[in-house]
Amino acid sequence: MPALSFAPLTLPAGSVTLVGAGPGDPELLTLKALRAIRAASVLLVDDLVGPEILRRARKSARIVRVGKRGGCRSTPQALIEKMMIAQARAGERVVRLKGGDPLVFGRGGEEAERLRAAGVRVEVLNGISAGFAAANALGIALTHRAHAHGVVFVTGHARSDAADDAPAGVHWPTLGAAAAHGLTLVIYMGVAQAAALQAGLLETLAPATPVAVVQHASLPSERRLACRLDALVASLRREEFGSPAIIIVGNVVQGLQALTDHRPSGLEAAA
Ligand code: SAH
Repeated sequence: MPALSFAPLTLPAGSVTLVGAGPGDPELLTLKALRAIRAASVLLVDDLVGPEILRRARKSARIVRVGKRGGCRSTPQALIEKMMIAQARAGERVVRLKGGDPLVFGRGGEEAERLRAAGVRVEVLNGISAGFAAANALGIALTHRAHAHGVVFVTGHARSDAADDAPAGVHWPTLGAAAAHGLTLVIYMGVAQAAALQAGLLETLAPATPVAVVQHASLPSERRLACRLDALVASLRREEFGSPAIIIVGNVVQGLQALTDHRPSGLEAAA
């Protein structure tokens, strides 16, 4: 096995690398992601990627923020894709930096397709998806054998621009039935839809089904709450939880009452 190396990854000129930046803690970047960030000449960056991570880029690199937050309107998806194609054709080493894993929600799959269709060389580097970071923050196993035999990653955000053959919006009662049969639900982008998902899931799940929510998983601002399914909306409101957050539904969450810090010290990032 080759020794671990922090040497820059050589990105071919004229290529795009879709890089997962992980859930926020810079120490959760993969070594490959870090090397790609260091090697990039242009970085197109989503808004959930923090400044700590961008500090790893070269001084000479052009950093373009294309996210929705941070004051400005989000860059339309078609424009982001055009920019990537144009920069690659101009011979740049383009890194498209996305939160979590680049292909879990967040349109990374569409971007890879468009780039390949335009004849641009694309590589993808995995990142730790927010759902895994949220489970870790809670100290739970998403597939604990005593409670679950699988896990469903689902978006709470209904697509408004769905193509004709795209699946219809999430059907919460169906997902509730899956959860009742031992599938843990890990819901991305669910906070804004909490009322609809609570009502839909309650059609097929018991009111006392345990739920946990993690906001800003892996960041110093991380917050966690645990409640019953029938108290989800009220708890989110009372605790003033907002996006970005992951909602986890199912018996793997049971027993999380105080949500005290379970983490061993020493593995935390040095301050
Ligand atoms: N590709 C990303 C998901 C993009 S969708 C990934 O794999 O994680 C954006 C959603 O991800 C947010 O609305 C939120 O539900 C979730 N998310 C991203 N970062 C998060 C974090 N640090 N803590 C909790 N949820 C997060």
